[in-house]
Amino acid sequence: MTVVFMHHDVIDASKVRRSGFYGAGAEVYKVTLDRFREQIAGLAAAFPGKAPKLDAGAPFALTFDDGGASATEVVAEVLAERGWYAHFFVVTGLLGMPGFVSVSGLRALVASGHTIGTHTVTHPHRLQALPYARIVREWQDSRERLSDLLGQPVDCGSVPGGCCSRAVRRAAAQAGLSLLFTSEPTIRRYESDGVGVCGRFAVWGRDPAEGAVRLAERAYARRMRALRWQALGVAKNALGPAYPAVREGLLRLRA
Ligand SMILES: [Zn+2]
Repeated sequence: MTVVFMHHDVIDASKVRRSGFYGAGAEVYKVTLDRFREQIAGLAAAFPGKAPKLDAGAPFALTFDDGGASATEVVAEVLAERGWYAHFFVVTGLLGMPGFVSVSGLRALVASGHTIGTHTVTHPHRLQALPYARIVREWQDSRERLSDLLGQPVDCGSVPGGCCSRAVRRAAAQAGLSLLFTSEPTIRRYESDGVGVCGRFAVWGRDPAEGAVRLAERAYARRMRALRWQALGVAKNALGPAYPAVREGLLRLRA
């Protein structure tokens, strides 16, 4: 049983002025460097001798979405202190843009032992709503670009916005991906429409430092996350294309 965490950016103002996407919707995922260090230290203490891995025997694994500049500037350095590895999912259309990793940064991550996957070319917020051929292109073009840049096949990806549909899975399989990471908070892994599907537990900026350990250790904490995710799914279905704007507005209110 492996609890796979979904991080985004880790913010250390002294190292990166900006990392990843901005706006209230993206801000909630940004974790401060101090909090990240506490989370990592907590996991190390709770699972002595264990390192993050996707293997069945590992209690937890680490993934980072969007390819924000903090991946190389901050995250990789913290992980290197423990000899830990992670998956980084990159938006290829943003490679080298301000706030995002560069091609050389990406190669450095691979050289250090990390795994790179695609997070599409343009990060459409409602990937599942696009025409099928466009979904295939999002997966295929990004996968080919990454494979070319890294000189090795890239076979995994994560779904922007986290919403997975049949078409999204089928298109990923058609584009040559074998493993797709979603934002569904579940430890269940399954095969569907020709691709493996792996759920993940989001790490939010406001999560307490011990939140990650709690999710890795307690089924109850995971169940609460699953319930919240289902409730959000109902809102997403009800609001359709208006959902991202409404969600952003609500997040602003709370902030
Ligand atoms: Zn994303």
